[in-house]
Order: sequence, then structure tokens, then C-alpha cells
Amino acid sequence: MESELARLRDEALAALDTCRDDADIEALRVRFLGRKGELTGVLRGIGELPVEQRRVIGETANQIKTLVEERIVALRTRWQEEQRARSLAAERIDITIPGNQRPYGSLHPLLQALDDTVAIFTAMGFEVARGPDIEDDYHNFAALNIPADHPAREMQDTFFIAPEVVLRTHTSPVQIRVMESRQPPLQIIVPGTVYRCDDDVTHSPMFVQLEGLMIGKDICFAHLKGVLTAFVHTMFGPDTPVRFRPSYFPFTEPSAEVDMGCVICGGRDTGCAVCKGSGWLEVLGSGMVHPNVFRAVGYDPEQVSGFAFGMGIDRISMLRYGIDDIRLFYQNDLRFLRQF
Ligand SMILES: [Zn+2]
Repeated sequence: MESELARLRDEALAALDTCRDDADIEALRVRFLGRKGELTGVLRGIGELPVEQRRVIGETANQIKTLVEERIVALRTRWQEEQRARSLAAERIDITIPGNQRPYGSLHPLLQALDDTVAIFTAMGFEVARGPDIEDDYHNFAALNIPADHPAREMQDTFFIAPEVVLRTHTSPVQIRVMESRQPPLQIIVPGTVYRCDDDVTHSPMFVQLEGLMIGKDICFAHLKGVLTAFVHTMFGPDTPVRFRPSYFPFTEPSAEVDMGCVICGGRDTGCAVCKGSGWLEVLGSGMVHPNVFRAVGYDPEQVSGFAFGMGIDRISMLRYGIDDIRLFYQNDLRFLRQF
């Protein structure tokens, strides 16, 4: 019996030494110490032994049972510690690794100039209106006092989609559409893309224009001067010189170009190449709305008056950032765009 116990002890300890995981340990625990386990069986059989053997064998068997139990507990603890160390190693976060750098984007210089221009006029009470890029001849020309035989049609090289259907050459048709659908007083601005057959350093076949219109009772040239001077001073600085120069547009009378002191040479007498020696740069066109335009939309020119203005946002952005080639805006060259 004693040799049987010694064999069981050696077998159990040897088997425990080969355990690789918790499942192995549990299988051996069941094999030796479970309800039907080998050691359990021996302990049960002690009662049938002669009395003189019971005490010695019982004591030995219990020692072996305790020994195996302790070994199992020790193995379990070691196994759990190893498990924990392994998962800590696997889940370790190295906070010294540099993060993923994402490139920063920025608004296109045209969008920046457009957003700022819109903000300046909306702060003065203008609301934003929009219209279609594809226009009919009537809204793009005829209603704006440019009848079919009018020489002013030669001033704008037009893209025709079909006879009587054009890509709008200016945002002014939106003035007509708004006046057709509403009654004065009106105070609107119209940002949008316009199209002309033109392509050189200062002209692009597609460019962004912003149109403005203020109609009401007793609106006069002083209002035009006040609003546009405020715009130039807000956009380019309060000390920027502004002048109004007589001009011609079919849809306004009288008409005026608005010039500002050259941003490059500061408007000195000698001037520079950008202002062609004049010290002045043209910013926008404007004028009092022509009575024929009011008649075209059913307004009474004796009852209402108003002014209109239009500017190229491309030009505003060029003046603001000192850019000398309009085509840079549309070439998507990141070396250019990253400067803004
Ligand atoms: Zn200059």
C-alpha cells in the first residue's frame, strides 16, 4: 500500500511538471483529487485496512494529498501571473511613438475673399440672392437695357449654349429675377460664377462675381458712395484712398468705376507697373439703376430709385494678396494654395 501511495505521489508530481496551461492543471486535479480520482480512491479504501495500518497509511495519504493540492495551487498562481504578464505585454501602448500627422487644409484664397466680401455687405443689411448659371437672352441682356442690336453686347464675349441661351456673362440677371418676384425696398447681393470667352493673365473664362442692388424710395448716388467706400475701407483698410470715376454700363445711369489707391506702390505719384503708373487700381463698377431696367421688371422709375454694383472676386483677391496672374486661382497648384 505504501509503495502504491509513493508511486501515485511521484506520478502526480511528474505529471504536474508537464502542465502547460490551466486546462492541463484542472485535468490532473480531477485525475488525482476528483470524486473518482486515484488518490481519493486510496483515501476511501483506508477504512477497510487493518486497524494497525490505518493511522500510518492514512497519515501518508493525507500528506500526499496536501502536497499535490499545494502544488496545484502554486502552479495555478504561476500560470495566472504568466497570463497577466503576457496580456500586459501584448496590450502595451508605446506613448513615445509619434502620432499620425494629418495635413491641414485651408480655404481657397477666392473663397476667403468671397466670404469676407459677403460678410461686409450682410453686416450692412444686404441679403444674399442666387440665380441660375444658364440664362436666357432676356434676363442676361434685354431686361438689362441691352437689346439685340446694342453695341454693349460686344463688351462681353458670350458663351452661347443655344440661340437665346447663354452661360451668364454677369450676375446681373439675378437682379432682374429678384425684382420680377418682389417689390421694393430691396437690398441684395448676388455672389456667383460667370463665364466669358476670355483667357489671359487678368481674365479667366470662368470667374466669380459679386453683384449688389439697393432699391427703395429716394435712394441716391450718396448712398452708393457711402456703401462702396465703406466696403473698400473694411476690405483694404480704413486709410485706403477711394475715387469714383465716370464710366458707362448699359444698365446704370450715371455709372462710375470705383478705384482705390494702389496696394503695391501706395498710390505714390510715380505709380508702379501694377497700377500702370497711375497710382490707382480699379476695384468695381457701379451706377444708378437705369429707368429702362425698372420698366422691364414693372417698377415705376418715378417712384423708386436705386443703385447697383458688381465686382470680380478674383480681382478683389488679387489686390488683397498681391497676385498678378488670375489663372493661379484655377490651377490647383498646392505650392500656391498653401500660402493662404
Ligand atoms: Zn502702383
